[in-house]
Amino acid sequence: MSKFYLGIDMGGTSIKIAVVDDKANILEESSLDTDIKAQPKKVINDIVNACKILKYYGKVKSIGIGIAGDIDFKKGIVRFSPNLPRWKNVPLKKEIEKTTKKTVLIDNDANTACIGAFWLDLKSKSDNMICVTLGTGVGGGIIVDKKLYRGNTGTAGEIGHMTLEVNGNKCNCGNLGCAETYIGAKYLVNRAVELMKTKSSKNILKLSGNNNSNITPKILSAAAAAGDLTAKQIWSEAGEKLGVLLANIINFFNPDSIVLCGGISKAGEELLKHANKQIKSRAFKTAADSCKIVISKYTNKLGVVGAAMLVKN
Ligand SMILES: [Zn+2]
Repeated sequence: MSKFYLGIDMGGTSIKIAVVDDKANILEESSLDTDIKAQPKKVINDIVNACKILKYYGKVKSIGIGIAGDIDFKKGIVRFSPNLPRWKNVPLKKEIEKTTKKTVLIDNDANTACIGAFWLDLKSKSDNMICVTLGTGVGGGIIVDKKLYRGNTGTAGEIGHMTLEVNGNKCNCGNLGCAETYIGAKYLVNRAVELMKTKSSKNILKLSGNNNSNITPKILSAAAAAGDLTAKQIWSEAGEKLGVLLANIINFFNPDSIVLCGGISKAGEELLKHANKQIKSRAFKTAADSCKIVISKYTNKLGVVGAAMLVKN
């Protein structure tokens, strides 16, 4: 008999809910808006109510939750989440177990995305993999022998805060030269604004309606596809930095696969061709040749599916 797993992905604007089977196929989906102003108790209550009306709810044995921020996986506590400013040391696991009487696991959203990529993009046919989330921030997850690796204090996989430049850009984490400060969304946009002071860029200007504050990675991607040289330069620089980061990861970890997900990964070949050049010239040949680099086709589903499958990995 098939087993059913419930996943919850708590984002800054919406909370996605899904029930999946033991192959991670989505059977049922739902969502609600994230009420960032409400007390945690109210949000938890809304989530539980949304789960209870699902058709499969009665058949589900476990609930997994992914949430951005500093999460204590062992104790099931949200220490801090940037998406939910009112949440400080919230015992989310205990609260939901109390009202649902089901097993509850919580983890940070980079780890749930990694599990989602393991099931959806790699169809669980990987032993050792890395998932890199490229968005506003740059996150990562590590799977070793088909199990998520969390490290000693749950910090493992902070790929975005690996140093790429010794005296580089200042990062929010306090360090200098973090990968996130070269390939995160905000950096790409700032870099575009900076380059456009001295370089012409018809496509970026047109797509952003002549307003710098409208520039997004999506616009930079479309501009590059239309042949815009400034946009191409931005992706070339970001791809180069990403490639250095991935070459380091390949030499250190020797994964069979690396999955790239998140909004910025949608730049696709424009980003990957520059990254691959760096990987080829920097990483050990056998390790690089045996590592498959995949751009996720399921970015929007990874979090919720990975949360559901937390209990299996
Ligand atoms: Zn950092």
